[in-house]
Amino acid sequence: MARLILLLYACLTLAAAEPPVYWLLWFDTEDYIEPSADDAAKRLAEELTARGVHATFKIVGEKARVLQQRGRTDVLRALAAHDIGYHSEFHSLHPTPAEYLSEFGLLDGAAEFTRREKAGFDLLENLFGVKPSCYGQPGNSWAPQANVALRQWGVKVYMDDAGQVGFDDQPFWYGGLLYVFNLGPHTVRTDLNDPSKSEAAKRRFDAALAAVRQRGGGVIQSYYHPTEWSSTKFWDGVNFAHGANPERSEWKNPPLRTPESREQAFRLFLDWADYVRRTPGLKIVTAREIPHYFEPRDSAPPIAESRRLAVSIDAHGGFSPADHLLALLSLPPAYVDGPLHRASTTFQDSTIPRPAFDRAKQDASAFIRRFHRLPDAIWLGSQRLALPDFAATLAAAPPAGPVPVRTGRLDIERRIGKDAAKLYDWVIHPQGFAPESLLEIARLQSWTLKPARLR
Ligand SMILES: [Zn+2]
Repeated sequence: MARLILLLYACLTLAAAEPPVYWLLWFDTEDYIEPSADDAAKRLAEELTARGVHATFKIVGEKARVLQQRGRTDVLRALAAHDIGYHSEFHSLHPTPAEYLSEFGLLDGAAEFTRREKAGFDLLENLFGVKPSCYGQPGNSWAPQANVALRQWGVKVYMDDAGQVGFDDQPFWYGGLLYVFNLGPHTVRTDLNDPSKSEAAKRRFDAALAAVRQRGGGVIQSYYHPTEWSSTKFWDGVNFAHGANPERSEWKNPPLRTPESREQAFRLFLDWADYVRRTPGLKIVTAREIPHYFEPRDSAPPIAESRRLAVSIDAHGGFSPADHLLALLSLPPAYVDGPLHRASTTFQDSTIPRPAFDRAKQDASAFIRRFHRLPDAIWLGSQRLALPDFAATLAAAPPAGPVPVRTGRLDIERRIGKDAAKLYDWVIHPQGFAPESLLEIARLQSWTLKPARLR
């Protein structure tokens, strides 16, 4: 008996020692033009249900509307066995989210995002009886203002793949949301057309698995679109390319797969999905479940880590610069947005008298408590310190006496993508579309960026 218990104990510790690996499989369910894409969505949902695989279907609002109009309750029922996320109101109809949000700031942009996108979200909640668990943008039409709106809607997860923001190829916190995004080599797919590529896709998955285990556990994601099983070209590319916006009556159906090529695509995908799901120790999770596997978003950093803002504004110790700033101001841990604008420092002297500095600290704290956002600058009488300089100065402030002014170095901004033309290069966007303004807001919000830590 004792030996059996020992053996059991050894097995348990061995199992516990294996780093956790989570697999997210999601489908952008968006083709509201070609009816056979409805059947593809249904069949994928049913095949996966039969295999005990819970996927996340991110559905476009207009797609849900069309399914209703076509009387496809069978499709809706098949999808309801999985997690439901949201994938924008109209996807590729112009203006796309990045197109219209490029003319807005953070807060007015969030309001505009809600005005344009909330109806489809509400429709999904109505149809499925549950709030969509996550959002992901159409194509690479990402915009930072969405974070503010999504939090207001009660969404906790941003799940997609693009290059505007990232953190070491694993999930991260940004704009108050858990981002499963920009996972680099940990995003793995198999080809749906060429059987000779299947083995390589399995090896790519194995490599991602080994890499994630090597770093102590993490997330691998795979994503597709049901329309890939029905058509040989994307439904939106044949209608809305390069800014084109034809009337509904002129929409064209995408070219269809032959029955043989469709069957092969299902076979190739399901064979690969079977391979992945049989991986020992792999946990298949949905967007709704993934937050449970990570530490809570808000906690207080060790003060020694926060003091490092003095030389570098960065995610020291896995805490965001905003976390550190709140700690330095003795505020309780909480999510707050980054600043709205990039201010300049006008303060002339090299030191700040202690009473003026204490007042500045109180003012910064009062602003953050009132607006749940970091101020652009902190005033010292008629002069000001830009936020990064204030943070660096505060982090290095001696316990008493005059406070030497320091210049803040915004190292965290290196995590934000730089080349707008490349990052927003999508067949749907007008040629040359390069919304620098969105990347600037993204950089300002990088104060909220930090890696997500597994429990
Ligand atoms: Zn999409």
